[in-house]
Amino acid sequence: MNNVMSLAYIGLGSNLEEPVRQVRQALDELGELPLCQRVAHSSLYATPPVGPQDQPDFINAVAAIETKLSPLALLDQLQALEQRHRRRRLRHWGPRTLDLDLLLYAQHTIEHPRLRVPHPYMHERAFVLVPLEEVVSAATHSSIMLHHQPLTSWLTHLDQHQIRRLSDADATTTASV
Ligand code: ADP
Ligand code: MG
Repeated sequence: MNNVMSLAYIGLGSNLEEPVRQVRQALDELGELPLCQRVAHSSLYATPPVGPQDQPDFINAVAAIETKLSPLALLDQLQALEQRHRRRRLRHWGPRTLDLDLLLYAQHTIEHPRLRVPHPYMHERAFVLVPLEEVVSAATHSSIMLHHQPLTSWLTHLDQHQIRRLSDADATTTASV
C-alpha cells in the first residue's frame, strides 16, 4: 500500500456472448476494489473480431481509478477480478470473459516479470487508445504522454474506423452485440 493516491488507467475487454454486460459489471467492480475509487470511465466501444466473424464483437473500455494500492497489488486485484469472471464463463460460456490490463500507473515505468507499464502493446491498439483518450480528458482535463509522445499523436498513426463507440442505448441493450 502507498500513502499517496495514484491515478491508474485500466483497459477492459470482453468477447463473451454478453460482453457489454461483462464490461459494465467490471467497470462497477473496479470502483469497489480495496483502496480504489473509480474516477471516470470511457464509453463502450465495439471492435469487430479478428478472424471468423460469427462471434460477438469485442467490447472495450478504459477506466481511470485513484488507488493507494502499489502497482503489483493492483495487478493482483485485477487478476483476481478476471478470475471471478473467467470462472463464471468456464461454467457457462467457455474459457474467457474478461481481460483487464493495467495501462498506466501515475508516471511510472515498470519492468517486472509480472508487470510492464505502460502496457507494452497499448500504443499499437486503437481499441485501447480511443477509449483512453476519451477518459483522460474526463479524468485529468489535460493530455498525457506515452513514450515521450502525446497520446493523440499515437492515435493519428492508427486506423480507427473499425472502432465503433456504442451509444448509451446500445450499451444497455445487450441483444445487438
Ligand atoms: P493478454 O492481456 O496479453 O491477452 P493475459 O491477460 O493473459 O494476456 O496476461 C498475461 C500476463 O501479462 C499476465 O500474467 C500479467 O502478469 C502480464 N502483464 C504484464 N504487464 C501487464 C499489464 N500492464 N497489465 C496486465 N497484465 C500484465
Ligand atoms: Mg491482459
